[in-house]
Amino acid sequence: MDWSGDSASIPKQAGAYLLWIELNEPTDLPPSFGGHLAPGTYLYAGSAYGPGGIRSRCHRHISRQKRKKWHVDWLTTVAGDVCVLPVVGGSECALITMLGNQGLGFPPVPGFGSSDCRSCQSHLFSVERSAIKQTISRAVQSL
Ligand SMILES: [Zn+2]
Repeated sequence: MDWSGDSASIPKQAGAYLLWIELNEPTDLPPSFGGHLAPGTYLYAGSAYGPGGIRSRCHRHISRQKRKKWHVDWLTTVAGDVCVLPVVGGSECALITMLGNQGLGFPPVPGFGSSDCRSCQSHLFSVERSAIKQTISRAVQSL
């Protein structure tokens, strides 16, 4: 699988996914964190093991119009670009661990998206502005 900005091409199977989130302006964090994120490229790891699988979850992530419920909604409603790398059968925590191990970035906001996770500092990752989607998808394929 490769990155997709169109939910019709995202598999309906269960699994994990990475969101590529391009912020073009300083973006407010959810009120519980306060502060904001600097413009840049961010990755968010999530999983979708409910009905509709990765497609229906990511359809929501890609949509601009929604009530803000999850931490990442504060970013996806204003981002310049949001696209999805599906990982059928994958684990969000394994994705985050791999990104860290490969030195591809750092978690900018402790606790972001990982309230119910005991192993990750955050499910949000800040990557170099120069990072390209292909580098990340290759790293994911190596898992
Ligand atoms: Zn985790």
